[in-house]
Amino acid sequence: MKGSCLCGAIEVVAGEHSEIGLCHCSMCRRWSGGPLFAAHCDDKVQFNGAAPKAYRSSEWAERGFCGECGTHLFYRLVPDGAYFLPAGLFQDREFALSSQIFIDEKPPFYTLANDTPTLTGKQVFEQFATGAD
Ligand SMILES: [Zn+2]
Ligand SMILES: [Zn+2]
Repeated sequence: MKGSCLCGAIEVVAGEHSEIGLCHCSMCRRWSGGPLFAAHCDDKVQFNGAAPKAYRSSEWAERGFCGECGTHLFYRLVPDGAYFLPAGLFQDREFALSSQIFIDEKPPFYTLANDTPTLTGKQVFEQFATGAD
C-alpha cells in the first residue's frame, strides 16, 4: 500500500494491510492530538523522496514525521524495527479496526462504538515482554 504526507515530500510504501489497531496512550495522544490509528507492519517499509525525521520517544521506540509539513509517518519499535503506520497516510484504503490498546489511559471525553478486544498498558507490556526474544 502507498501513502504520502500532507505536503507530498515523502511517499510511504508498505505491504498490504486491512486491519488497524488503535492506541489510546498519553504519548500517542500528545503526539497525534488524539488516539493513534495505525497498521502494524514489518520492518520492510520504504520511504521515497525526502528522508523522514525521527524522534526517540522512549527507550524502545521512535516516532517519525515529515520535516516539511510535520505529518506523522511512523511509530517504530527499535528492537525489531517493526513499523506502525498511521491509517491517515493511506486514505484510499478500507481498514477494519481490530484492537484497542492502553484502554486504561483513554480519557473519558470519547468512547468508540467499535466492539474490539482491548488491552491495558500493563497487558501490552506483558505481551511485549513474553513475545520479545
Ligand atoms: Zn510532508
Ligand atoms: Zn500509544
